[in-house]
Amino acid sequence: MINKKISFNIPYCGDEELLNIKKIKLQNHYSGSGNAFFSKKCTDWLTKNIKCKDTLLVHSCTAALEMCAILLNIKHGDEIIMPSYTFVSTANAFVLRGGKPVFVDIDPKTLNIETKDIEKFITKKTKAIVVVHYAGISCDMDLVMKIAKKHRLFVIEDAAQAILSKYKGKQLGSIGDLAALSFHETKNIHCGEGGALLINNKKFIKRARIIRDKGTNRDDFNKNLVKKYEWKDIGSSYCLSEINAAFLYAQLNKALHITKKRIQIWNNYHKYFKKLEIEGKIARPFVPKYTKHNAHTYWITTEIKHRNKIISYLKNKNINALFHYIPLHSSPFNKNGIKQKIDLRLTELKSKSIIRMPLYIGLKKTEIALITNLIKKFFKN
Ligand SMILES: *Cc1c(COP(=O)(O)O)cnc(C)c1O
Repeated sequence: MINKKISFNIPYCGDEELLNIKKIKLQNHYSGSGNAFFSKKCTDWLTKNIKCKDTLLVHSCTAALEMCAILLNIKHGDEIIMPSYTFVSTANAFVLRGGKPVFVDIDPKTLNIETKDIEKFITKKTKAIVVVHYAGISCDMDLVMKIAKKHRLFVIEDAAQAILSKYKGKQLGSIGDLAALSFHETKNIHCGEGGALLINNKKFIKRARIIRDKGTNRDDFNKNLVKKYEWKDIGSSYCLSEINAAFLYAQLNKALHITKKRIQIWNNYHKYFKKLEIEGKIARPFVPKYTKHNAHTYWITTEIKHRNKIISYLKNKNINALFHYIPLHSSPFNKNGIKQKIDLRLTELKSKSIIRMPLYIGLKKTEIALITNLIKKFFKN
Protein backbone atom coordinates (compact mmCIF):
# COMPACT_ATOMS: atom_id res chain seq x y z
CA MET A 1 0.00 0.00 0.00
CA ILE A 2 1.28 3.43 -0.91
CA ASN A 3 0.72 6.02 1.79
CA LYS A 4 0.08 9.69 1.15
CA LYS A 5 3.24 11.70 0.50
CA ILE A 6 4.80 13.08 3.68
CA SER A 7 6.89 16.19 3.05
CA PHE A 8 9.83 17.20 5.20
CA ASN A 9 8.34 20.63 5.86
CA ILE A 10 5.11 22.43 5.02
CA PRO A 11 5.49 26.11 5.97
CA TYR A 12 2.60 27.12 8.22
CA CYS A 13 0.22 29.83 6.97
CA GLY A 14 -3.17 30.79 8.39
CA ASP A 15 -5.70 33.36 7.18
CA GLU A 16 -4.47 36.23 9.39
CA GLU A 17 -1.14 36.40 7.54
CA LEU A 18 -2.88 37.26 4.26
CA LEU A 19 -5.48 39.54 5.87
CA ASN A 20 -2.65 41.58 7.40
CA ILE A 21 -1.03 42.02 4.01
CA LYS A 22 -4.32 43.36 2.65
CA LYS A 23 -4.41 45.93 5.44
CA ILE A 24 -1.14 47.54 4.31
CA LYS A 25 -2.87 49.34 1.48
CA LEU A 26 -4.63 51.58 3.99
CA GLN A 27 -1.38 52.99 5.34
CA ASN A 28 0.45 53.46 2.01
CA HIS A 29 3.67 52.12 3.49
CA TYR A 30 5.30 49.12 1.86
CA SER A 31 8.93 49.44 2.90
CA GLY A 32 9.97 48.68 6.44
CA SER A 33 11.53 51.99 7.31
CA GLY A 34 10.03 54.78 9.34
CA ASN A 35 6.80 54.17 11.19
CA ALA A 36 5.48 51.28 9.17
CA PHE A 37 2.78 49.75 11.37
CA PHE A 38 3.51 46.02 11.18
CA SER A 39 7.29 46.47 11.26
CA LYS A 40 6.93 48.36 14.51
CA LYS A 41 4.51 45.76 15.93
CA CYS A 42 6.93 42.90 15.13
CA THR A 43 9.88 44.82 16.56
CA ASP A 44 8.04 45.51 19.80
CA TRP A 45 6.80 41.94 20.06
CA LEU A 46 10.32 40.55 19.73
CA THR A 47 11.90 43.02 22.16
CA LYS A 48 9.20 42.36 24.72
CA ASN A 49 9.02 38.57 24.41
CA ILE A 50 12.71 37.84 23.98
CA LYS A 51 13.65 40.53 26.49
CA CYS A 52 16.54 41.88 24.46
CA LYS A 53 17.53 45.57 24.58
CA ASP A 54 16.66 46.29 20.95
CA THR A 55 15.44 44.54 17.79
CA LEU A 56 16.01 45.39 14.13
CA LEU A 57 13.94 43.57 11.53
CA VAL A 58 16.06 42.55 8.54
CA HIS A 59 15.49 40.61 5.35
CA SER A 60 17.23 37.42 6.58
CA CYS A 61 19.24 35.89 9.36
CA THR A 62 22.15 36.08 6.90
CA ALA A 63 21.71 39.88 6.85
CA ALA A 64 21.66 40.00 10.65
CA LEU A 65 24.91 38.00 10.80
CA GLU A 66 26.56 40.27 8.21
CA MET A 67 25.54 43.25 10.33
CA CYS A 68 27.16 41.58 13.36
CA ALA A 69 30.46 41.32 11.47
CA ILE A 70 30.27 45.01 10.50
CA LEU A 71 29.35 46.08 14.05
CA LEU A 72 32.32 44.15 15.44
CA ASN A 73 34.63 45.89 12.92
CA ILE A 74 35.90 42.51 11.70
CA LYS A 75 38.95 43.02 9.51
CA HIS A 76 41.45 40.91 7.63
CA GLY A 77 42.93 38.19 9.82
CA ASP A 78 40.52 38.48 12.73
CA GLU A 79 39.54 35.09 14.04
CA ILE A 80 35.99 34.06 14.90
CA ILE A 81 35.32 30.85 16.80
CA MET A 82 32.33 28.83 15.61
CA PRO A 83 31.19 25.27 14.90
CA SER A 84 31.90 23.76 11.47
CA TYR A 85 28.57 21.97 11.72
CA THR A 86 26.38 24.94 10.76
CA PHE A 87 24.77 26.79 7.87
CA VAL A 88 27.13 28.70 5.54
CA SER A 89 25.90 32.13 6.60
CA THR A 90 27.37 31.73 10.09
CA ALA A 91 30.83 31.75 8.50
CA ASN A 92 30.21 33.73 5.30
CA ALA A 93 29.14 36.85 7.20
CA PHE A 94 32.62 37.10 8.73
CA VAL A 95 34.58 35.85 5.70
CA LEU A 96 33.00 38.69 3.67
CA ARG A 97 34.84 41.15 5.92
CA GLY A 98 38.17 39.29 5.81
CA GLY A 99 37.62 37.34 8.99
CA LYS A 100 38.79 33.78 9.50
CA PRO A 101 36.46 31.18 10.95
CA VAL A 102 38.11 28.90 13.49
CA PHE A 103 36.12 25.71 13.68
CA VAL A 104 35.47 23.85 16.91
CA ASP A 105 34.08 20.32 17.12
CA ILE A 106 30.57 19.53 18.38
CA ASP A 107 29.07 17.79 21.37
CA PRO A 108 27.73 14.52 19.89
CA LYS A 109 24.69 14.57 22.17
CA THR A 110 23.31 17.98 21.09
CA LEU A 111 25.36 18.73 17.91
CA ASN A 112 26.11 22.16 19.44
CA ILE A 113 29.62 23.59 19.71
CA GLU A 114 31.71 21.67 22.28
CA THR A 115 31.95 24.45 24.85
CA LYS A 116 34.79 22.78 26.75
CA ASP A 117 37.01 23.00 23.63
CA ILE A 118 36.51 26.70 22.90
CA GLU A 119 39.29 28.05 25.08
CA LYS A 120 41.95 25.95 23.30
CA PHE A 121 41.33 27.92 20.10
CA ILE A 122 41.55 31.45 21.48
CA THR A 123 44.53 33.46 20.19
CA LYS A 124 45.50 37.14 20.18
CA LYS A 125 43.52 37.47 16.94
CA THR A 126 40.25 36.08 18.29
CA LYS A 127 37.45 38.63 18.20
CA ALA A 128 34.27 36.71 18.87
CA ILE A 129 32.58 33.41 19.63
CA VAL A 130 29.58 32.53 17.49
CA VAL A 131 27.36 29.84 18.94
CA VAL A 132 24.61 28.09 16.99
CA HIS A 133 21.67 26.72 18.97
CA TYR A 134 21.21 23.70 16.74
CA ALA A 135 17.64 22.41 16.32
CA GLY A 136 16.54 25.00 18.89
CA ILE A 137 18.44 23.32 21.74
CA SER A 138 20.57 25.80 23.68
CA CYS A 139 24.35 25.82 23.94
CA ASP A 140 25.82 25.95 27.44
CA MET A 141 25.61 29.73 27.62
CA ASP A 142 26.96 30.31 31.16
CA LEU A 143 30.21 28.66 30.16
CA VAL A 144 30.34 30.50 26.81
CA MET A 145 29.77 33.87 28.51
CA LYS A 146 32.36 33.09 31.18
CA ILE A 147 35.02 32.27 28.58
CA ALA A 148 34.13 35.39 26.57
CA LYS A 149 34.35 37.63 29.61
CA LYS A 150 37.71 36.21 30.65
CA HIS A 151 39.22 36.79 27.18
CA ARG A 152 37.23 39.97 26.37
CA LEU A 153 35.47 38.50 23.35
CA PHE A 154 32.08 39.27 21.89
CA VAL A 155 29.42 36.57 21.82
CA ILE A 156 26.99 36.22 18.94
CA GLU A 157 24.09 33.80 19.11
CA ASP A 158 23.08 32.36 15.76
CA ALA A 159 19.55 31.76 17.00
CA ALA A 160 18.17 31.18 13.48
CA GLN A 161 16.49 27.98 14.67
CA ALA A 162 15.89 28.97 18.25
CA ILE A 163 13.00 31.45 18.56
CA LEU A 164 11.24 30.93 21.93
CA SER A 165 13.78 28.38 23.16
CA LYS A 166 15.20 29.04 26.60
CA TYR A 167 18.41 28.66 28.58
CA LYS A 168 17.86 28.57 32.35
CA GLY A 169 14.62 30.51 31.89
CA LYS A 170 16.15 33.17 29.61
CA GLN A 171 15.05 33.43 25.98
CA LEU A 172 17.77 32.49 23.47
CA GLY A 173 18.87 35.63 21.70
CA SER A 174 18.85 37.61 24.95
CA ILE A 175 22.20 36.38 26.25
CA GLY A 176 25.01 37.20 23.77
CA ASP A 177 26.08 40.75 22.81
CA LEU A 178 24.19 40.22 19.56
CA ALA A 179 21.89 37.53 18.17
CA ALA A 180 20.34 36.65 14.83
CA LEU A 181 16.91 35.12 14.18
CA SER A 182 15.61 33.69 10.92
CA PHE A 183 12.07 33.90 9.56
CA HIS A 184 12.85 31.83 6.47
CA GLU A 185 10.01 29.47 5.52
CA THR A 186 12.03 26.52 6.84
CA LYS A 187 11.97 27.93 10.37
CA ASN A 188 9.26 27.63 13.09
CA ILE A 189 7.98 31.20 12.63
CA HIS A 190 8.33 32.62 9.13
CA CYS A 191 7.43 35.30 6.61
CA GLY A 192 8.86 33.70 3.47
CA GLU A 193 12.25 35.27 4.02
CA GLY A 194 13.10 37.45 6.98
CA GLY A 195 15.21 37.83 10.08
CA ALA A 196 16.00 39.95 13.07
CA LEU A 197 19.11 41.34 14.67
CA LEU A 198 18.72 41.28 18.46
CA ILE A 199 20.94 43.62 20.44
CA ASN A 200 21.81 43.13 24.09
CA ASN A 201 24.98 45.24 24.24
CA LYS A 202 23.72 48.83 24.14
CA LYS A 203 26.81 50.17 22.43
CA PHE A 204 25.65 48.66 19.12
CA ILE A 205 22.12 50.11 19.02
CA LYS A 206 22.73 53.40 17.23
CA ARG A 207 25.21 52.18 14.64
CA ALA A 208 23.10 49.12 13.78
CA ARG A 209 20.29 51.33 12.43
CA ILE A 210 22.73 53.17 10.17
CA ILE A 211 24.26 49.94 8.85
CA ARG A 212 20.80 48.54 8.11
CA ASP A 213 19.87 51.62 6.09
CA LYS A 214 22.71 51.70 3.51
CA GLY A 215 25.04 53.48 5.91
CA THR A 216 22.73 56.47 6.25
CA ASN A 217 20.81 58.04 9.14
CA ARG A 218 17.59 57.78 7.18
CA ASP A 219 15.94 56.08 10.16
CA ASP A 220 16.37 59.29 12.20
CA PHE A 221 15.11 61.30 9.22
CA ASN A 222 11.97 59.16 8.89
CA LYS A 223 11.29 59.76 12.56
CA ASN A 224 11.74 63.53 12.06
CA LEU A 225 14.79 63.56 14.32
CA VAL A 226 17.03 65.20 11.67
CA LYS A 227 16.31 67.57 8.75
CA LYS A 228 18.22 65.57 6.11
CA TYR A 229 19.80 62.19 5.89
CA GLU A 230 23.42 61.55 4.96
CA TRP A 231 26.02 58.87 4.30
CA LYS A 232 27.45 58.14 7.76
CA ASP A 233 29.10 54.73 7.70
CA ILE A 234 29.44 51.53 5.68
CA GLY A 235 26.19 49.63 5.36
CA SER A 236 23.84 47.91 3.00
CA SER A 237 20.14 47.37 2.34
CA TYR A 238 19.16 45.04 5.15
CA CYS A 239 15.64 46.16 6.08
CA LEU A 240 12.64 43.80 6.01
CA SER A 241 9.78 45.06 3.85
CA GLU A 242 6.47 45.98 5.52
CA ILE A 243 4.74 43.34 3.37
CA ASN A 244 6.79 40.60 5.02
CA ALA A 245 6.36 42.21 8.44
CA ALA A 246 2.56 42.10 8.04
CA PHE A 247 2.76 38.34 7.41
CA LEU A 248 5.26 37.91 10.24
CA TYR A 249 3.14 39.75 12.80
CA ALA A 250 0.30 37.26 12.30
CA GLN A 251 2.77 34.42 12.91
CA LEU A 252 4.28 36.04 16.00
CA ASN A 253 0.82 36.34 17.52
CA LYS A 254 0.45 32.57 17.10
CA ALA A 255 4.06 31.75 17.98
CA LEU A 256 3.35 30.13 21.33
CA HIS A 257 0.61 27.99 19.82
CA ILE A 258 2.82 26.97 16.87
CA THR A 259 5.66 26.07 19.23
CA LYS A 260 3.35 24.01 21.47
CA LYS A 261 2.06 22.02 18.50
CA ARG A 262 5.62 21.34 17.28
CA ILE A 263 6.64 20.17 20.75
CA GLN A 264 3.81 17.60 20.74
CA ILE A 265 5.10 16.20 17.45
CA TRP A 266 8.71 16.23 18.69
CA ASN A 267 7.69 14.42 21.89
CA ASN A 268 5.88 11.73 19.91
CA TYR A 269 8.98 11.04 17.79
CA HIS A 270 11.06 10.96 20.95
CA LYS A 271 8.72 8.43 22.56
CA TYR A 272 8.40 6.19 19.49
CA PHE A 273 12.19 6.16 18.91
CA LYS A 274 13.09 5.33 22.52
CA LYS A 275 13.20 1.58 22.04
CA LEU A 276 15.55 1.80 19.03
CA GLU A 277 17.92 3.90 21.09
CA ILE A 278 17.87 1.40 23.97
CA GLU A 279 18.63 -1.35 21.43
CA GLY A 280 21.66 0.69 20.28
CA LYS A 281 20.39 1.15 16.71
CA ILE A 282 20.08 4.94 16.79
CA ALA A 283 20.85 7.95 18.98
CA ARG A 284 18.16 10.50 19.81
CA PRO A 285 18.72 14.20 20.54
CA PHE A 286 19.73 14.93 24.13
CA VAL A 287 18.04 17.86 25.84
CA PRO A 288 20.23 19.23 28.65
CA LYS A 289 18.43 20.21 31.88
CA TYR A 290 19.26 23.89 31.34
CA THR A 291 17.26 24.23 28.13
CA LYS A 292 13.61 24.31 27.09
CA HIS A 293 13.58 23.88 23.32
CA ASN A 294 11.18 24.95 20.56
CA ALA A 295 11.04 21.65 18.63
CA HIS A 296 12.64 23.12 15.54
CA THR A 297 13.99 19.77 14.31
CA TYR A 298 13.67 16.12 15.24
CA TRP A 299 16.81 14.23 14.32
CA ILE A 300 18.30 10.80 14.90
CA THR A 301 21.75 9.46 14.11
CA THR A 302 22.53 5.93 12.92
CA GLU A 303 25.62 4.05 11.86
CA ILE A 304 27.04 5.77 8.75
CA LYS A 305 26.42 2.67 6.60
CA HIS A 306 22.68 2.78 7.38
CA ARG A 307 22.02 6.50 6.97
CA ASN A 308 21.53 6.87 3.21
CA LYS A 309 19.78 3.52 3.02
CA ILE A 310 17.18 4.65 5.55
CA ILE A 311 16.63 7.94 3.70
CA SER A 312 16.12 6.02 0.40
CA TYR A 313 13.90 3.44 2.10
CA LEU A 314 11.65 6.21 3.41
CA LYS A 315 11.72 8.00 0.06
CA ASN A 316 10.42 4.82 -1.58
CA LYS A 317 7.51 4.96 0.84
CA ASN A 318 6.83 8.58 -0.14
CA ILE A 319 8.39 10.03 3.03
CA ASN A 320 10.88 12.85 2.79
CA ALA A 321 13.48 12.67 5.57
CA LEU A 322 16.73 14.61 5.10
CA PHE A 323 20.39 14.68 6.04
CA HIS A 324 21.84 18.05 7.04
CA TYR A 325 24.98 20.20 6.91
CA ILE A 326 28.10 19.29 4.96
CA PRO A 327 30.65 20.55 7.52
CA LEU A 328 32.05 23.92 6.46
CA HIS A 329 35.68 22.85 6.90
CA SER A 330 35.21 20.05 4.34
CA SER A 331 33.14 22.04 1.83
CA PRO A 332 34.47 22.96 -1.66
CA PHE A 333 34.90 26.67 -0.86
CA ASN A 334 37.14 25.90 2.05
CA LYS A 335 39.57 24.00 -0.19
CA ASN A 336 40.85 27.36 -1.48
CA GLY A 337 40.85 29.17 1.77
CA ILE A 338 40.54 28.44 5.39
CA LYS A 339 43.10 25.84 6.52
CA GLN A 340 42.90 24.26 9.89
CA LYS A 341 44.70 21.16 11.06
CA ILE A 342 42.46 20.10 13.86
CA ASP A 343 40.34 17.20 14.79
CA LEU A 344 36.69 17.70 13.83
CA ARG A 345 35.99 13.99 14.12
CA LEU A 346 32.58 14.22 15.75
CA THR A 347 31.42 16.90 13.29
CA GLU A 348 32.34 14.56 10.43
CA LEU A 349 30.82 11.50 12.06
CA LYS A 350 27.53 13.16 12.97
CA SER A 351 27.07 14.90 9.62
CA LYS A 352 27.38 11.49 7.93
CA SER A 353 24.95 9.80 10.27
CA ILE A 354 22.14 12.30 10.85
CA ILE A 355 18.58 11.97 9.57
CA ARG A 356 16.03 14.76 10.11
CA MET A 357 12.40 13.70 10.33
CA PRO A 358 9.36 15.43 8.77
CA LEU A 359 8.03 18.02 11.24
CA TYR A 360 5.32 20.58 10.53
CA ILE A 361 1.97 21.73 11.89
CA GLY A 362 -0.57 19.23 10.62
CA LEU A 363 1.68 16.14 10.70
CA LYS A 364 -0.53 13.47 12.24
CA LYS A 365 0.29 11.15 15.09
CA THR A 366 -0.51 8.20 12.80
CA GLU A 367 2.06 9.52 10.31
CA ILE A 368 4.70 9.76 13.04
CA ALA A 369 3.87 6.17 14.00
CA LEU A 370 4.16 5.11 10.36
CA ILE A 371 7.58 6.76 9.94
CA THR A 372 9.02 5.37 13.17
CA ASN A 373 7.59 1.89 12.48
CA LEU A 374 9.19 1.85 9.03
CA ILE A 375 12.56 2.66 10.56
CA LYS A 376 12.06 -0.11 13.12
CA LYS A 377 11.22 -2.46 10.24
CA PHE A 378 14.39 -1.38 8.41
CA PHE A 379 16.48 -2.53 11.35
CA LYS A 380 14.63 -5.88 11.59
CA ASN A 381 15.54 -6.76 7.99
C1 LIG B 1 18.48 29.17 8.47
C2 LIG B 1 19.78 29.50 9.11
C3 LIG B 1 20.50 30.64 8.75
C4 LIG B 1 20.11 31.53 7.61
O1 LIG B 1 18.86 32.07 7.72
P1 LIG B 1 18.28 33.00 6.51
O2 LIG B 1 17.16 33.73 7.18
O3 LIG B 1 17.83 32.06 5.46
O4 LIG B 1 19.37 33.91 6.08
C5 LIG B 1 21.66 30.91 9.44
N1 LIG B 1 22.11 30.12 10.42
C6 LIG B 1 21.45 28.99 10.78
C7 LIG B 1 21.99 28.14 11.88
C8 LIG B 1 20.27 28.64 10.12
O5 LIG B 1 19.64 27.52 10.47
